[in-house]
Amino acid sequence: MNHRLTFMLLLATFLIVVTSYHVKRDDKSWDYMVFTQTWPKASCIKFNHSRGRSCTLNPKINQWTIHGIWPNNAAKDGPFYCQPSWKFDEKAILDIEASLDLHWPNIIDKTPHLNFWKHEWEKHGTCAASLDTLNSEHKYFQHGIQFNTKWNLLNILGAADIKPSMNQTYKADDIKTTIEKTTNSRVNVGCIYISDFDYQLLVQVEICLDKQFNTIDCDDMRDKLMFNPSKGTYIFPCHGDSDVRYVPFSE
Ligand code: AMP
Repeated sequence: MNHRLTFMLLLATFLIVVTSYHVKRDDKSWDYMVFTQTWPKASCIKFNHSRGRSCTLNPKINQWTIHGIWPNNAAKDGPFYCQPSWKFDEKAILDIEASLDLHWPNIIDKTPHLNFWKHEWEKHGTCAASLDTLNSEHKYFQHGIQFNTKWNLLNILGAADIKPSMNQTYKADDIKTTIEKTTNSRVNVGCIYISDFDYQLLVQVEICLDKQFNTIDCDDMRDKLMFNPSKGTYIFPCHGDSDVRYVPFSE
């Protein structure tokens, strides 16, 4: 009897462990979204310093561009690739493609024009699609354009006299608080170090959104997720009271 009880207990424990593992692994739920914008000039410099990659900017690009809209959880990154069978289809976004070329461009040389959109849709968009408001490729990319227009960082920073310049540097904290005054929420500001430059370079801004697209505070955890030294020239939270270079397109 004792042996049978022990066996039943062990079996129950085993089943609970296996089931919870599978539930966790298949869990594609998420809490909030990160709308990530890139300063394309700094991003291009970053790619030109990455092994095996180079970058050219379309001269028509004159603003911050989109990296992605990323569903995320408070405690961990992701989920990713929620619908592996939903492959990127250019036909779905043909009417906004010209606008995407300016707002959400692929800036890496010698890669197919659609590569970046395909990657963002399949990795992040298919997870964002659990919202009715984002449940198609068209809605996902269209919202990107809307967000990029609404939070036009060139204008937001420019209004505080924070403008791309090789003559002037800015404190990272001033950049962050200027954006936060507009969004009314805590944002993350990302920088890179590049050997040719004497200061950290402003390269990325993350604005966090709830499922109704209201701005919410990005949590501290995001800073750690953004900081990924394994990725070569990595993006880190800009050092707050240090100078930042906001590289102009002309450089
Ligand atoms: P993610 O997986 O969404 O974090 O995106 C990272 C991938 O996007 C990396 O492979 C980057 O090289 C690529 N990437 C980031 N920005 C751009 C861009 N503007 N154009 C093309 N690829 C990009």
